[in-house]
Amino acid sequence: MKKLLSIILVLLISSSAFAQGDKKPIIGISSTWGGGIATSAPLTYVKSVMRAGGVPVVLPITDDPELLSRMLETVDAVIMTGGEDIDPLKWFGEEPRPALGEIVPERDAFDIALIRMAVAKGLPVLGICRGIQLMNVAFGGTLYQDIPSQVKGAFVKHSQKAPGYYGTHSISIEKGSLLNKQIGLDSVAVNSFHHQAIKQIAPGFKVTAYSKDGIVEAIEKVGSSKVFGVQFHPEVFTANNVDTFLGIFQYLVEEAKK
Ligand code: MN
Repeated sequence: MKKLLSIILVLLISSSAFAQGDKKPIIGISSTWGGGIATSAPLTYVKSVMRAGGVPVVLPITDDPELLSRMLETVDAVIMTGGEDIDPLKWFGEEPRPALGEIVPERDAFDIALIRMAVAKGLPVLGICRGIQLMNVAFGGTLYQDIPSQVKGAFVKHSQKAPGYYGTHSISIEKGSLLNKQIGLDSVAVNSFHHQAIKQIAPGFKVTAYSKDGIVEAIEKVGSSKVFGVQFHPEVFTANNVDTFLGIFQYLVEEAKK
């Protein structure tokens, strides 16, 4: 009996030690401003992080760098989410085009500070839709404010009217890129809900996927394994149990454990 008890004790101790070493990482998710009365993130991001083995935490918008810094001490990786257009005059020195959509100054300022600080701290960062554009602008790149009125020869519909978990346009992915490794494909159909796009790529970054009409669909930081972005919405597929892009979130979670 004593022997049995000691065996059980050893098993308990070793299983808790295993649990310690394999702790789920905390993934910070950038939030919406909600008109200044709500801070939230779409459930699709939250579900995708949970499905990939991470712990989702929504990061509320603040203009206090000390609060932001403390938030980033508590997370192991960051996802920059989709949303409104980025103010072109303030963040990349261009006059607003007539087709520019809604801009949210509070969110722009927080998101720019958040991504710069996260990268400076060496955290893994995934940018999605607005998030990839934000990543590009935060590190010195520029955007098309509106694809239909600004990009000659853009013949692909980038504002789909189909379910979000359904891919409508194809992209070509560079072999050996992070996205290629994450999903194991060099061509795939993605969803598309954007009218802005990356124009000039930021110094130190490279494009790793294009649509057939030359719109940037993925980027990564040169020489880094942990800063990358996609123009489409992998979280909508993943949250709806379509697993084509689950690897993107699993990769982020694995990087967050390092
Ligand atoms: Mn697209």
